[in-house]
Amino acid sequence: MSTETRIYRALGGWVEAPDDPRPELDGEINADVVIAGAGLAGLCAALELTRQGMEVVVLERGFAGCGASSRNAGYLAGGQGLKYDRFLKTVGMEKAKRIVEFYEEGVRFAEARFKEHDIDCDYHQSGLIRAGIHPSQETAVRKDMRLEAELGLSAEFLDQAAMRSRGIPPAFLFGSYVASGGTLNPGKYVLGLRRAALEAGVTLHENTPLLSYEDGPIVKARTPRGCVNAPVLMLTTNAYTPGLGLLDDQVVPLRLSAIETEPLSDEQLAALGWPGREGITTPHWIMESHRLTARNTLVVTTKRLRYPYGSRTPEAPEQKQYQALYTALQDRFPMLKGIAIRHCWSGYISYANDGLPVVGVTAENRNVYYSAGCCGHGVGTQGLVGYLLARHIGGFTNPMLATLMDHVTPAMLPKPLRWCTLNLALNAAGRLDDRLNRKVRSI
Ligand SMILES: Cc1cc2nc3c(=O)[nH]c(=O)nc-3n(C[C@H](O)[C@H](O)[C@H](O)COP(=O)(O)OP(=O)(O)OC[C@H]3O[C@@H](n4cnc5c(N)ncnc54)[C@H](O)[C@@H]3O)c2cc1C
Repeated sequence: MSTETRIYRALGGWVEAPDDPRPELDGEINADVVIAGAGLAGLCAALELTRQGMEVVVLERGFAGCGASSRNAGYLAGGQGLKYDRFLKTVGMEKAKRIVEFYEEGVRFAEARFKEHDIDCDYHQSGLIRAGIHPSQETAVRKDMRLEAELGLSAEFLDQAAMRSRGIPPAFLFGSYVASGGTLNPGKYVLGLRRAALEAGVTLHENTPLLSYEDGPIVKARTPRGCVNAPVLMLTTNAYTPGLGLLDDQVVPLRLSAIETEPLSDEQLAALGWPGREGITTPHWIMESHRLTARNTLVVTTKRLRYPYGSRTPEAPEQKQYQALYTALQDRFPMLKGIAIRHCWSGYISYANDGLPVVGVTAENRNVYYSAGCCGHGVGTQGLVGYLLARHIGGFTNPMLATLMDHVTPAMLPKPLRWCTLNLALNAAGRLDDRLNRKVRSI
């Protein structure tokens, strides 16, 4: 990839900063609930609490949506692609079924939000394909499909003939297709929620980081120039939560990246095929995801992951990750040879050792709620978690939330051993994937 094509965009490829920024908090105010972090989780929580008649103040260190919620690949996915082997043994079959049902509910939840708040986010309800690029991946795909069937997920195996008759680009040999979910523009989704929250009367303070909080029956949430007093605090800060001194032993921020091509010409689209525009992921150790957008660009994500030292979350370009994604783009779509890259960007997900959501309540007065985890699966689920927590705060506990709150997340290794071990494992996974990709190239 040439230097001029590596167009890094710190905000990601989907959004501009809103032209109606909400004022920074200046002074001391009161609320029924104060929420820190205005991504999908925080905004959905704020909407539900406001609907219940509560006074809600949301503190956001950037602008609402500026985290992973606007930087993701835009796959609205249910349980497909979960790392079942990481949690099945520890939680058992019955609880695993409830967890998978929660992920499936996440898809329905997001779809209902588009309708309820009239959000046009280019949602394409195409279903999703987990597609193999080498015959050796078929065993893993079929094994996951068997497990998924036991867990209540229905998927269809697409062999070569079925893939070709769908017009899926030929690099993808076979796959597991789920009909629910699809792809969307995550920037339009989260900014649509921001608009809905403002219209509903949520008080939003942007450019207002929560710096610290003081426990008590009334929590004091401190910001650089102000403070919010509220009987309940929600930390919907996801990957940034360890930076606030909470969940450091349960989740780590992982840096992952995306690239987006320039819009494809009519000739390039014709050469590509792919009329159903199903979102595709691969069963690599670290997956690749490939999707077309409503603006006829291709977005490629993941491929490499990195855990920054000390669980910090610096914003800097990840040139190695962009290069790896560009290689994947060229490998999978030789018919688009030489296509220019429009944007590259990166963001943070919060990763728990079992890949599951980390949701709970802490503090002596049991009035500080948190939501993290969900890894690369948060487009549906994180909004749902925010909503379920808000229902719980209002006195209605959904059994789905009880399952999540009861779940014990396996502890992370202590630092700095954690940094060495995790990055070693991530690099090893990357090398295994590279080896497979070389095999594919040599066929
Ligand atoms: C490159 C990439 C691709 C992805 N692809 C997909 C995908 O295709 N499908 C999928 O389901 N998931 C995907 N994900 C994951 C998904 O985006 C996340 O799980 C989800 O958006 C998390 O939502 P959230 O509201 O919990 O967190 P976030 O959106 O990260 O929101 C947290 C907010 O807290 C704010 N904040 C942080 N610290 C403070 C503080 N001290 N005070 C106030 N505010 C603070 C941040 O600025 C941010 O706005 C992807 C993620 C990335 C990065």
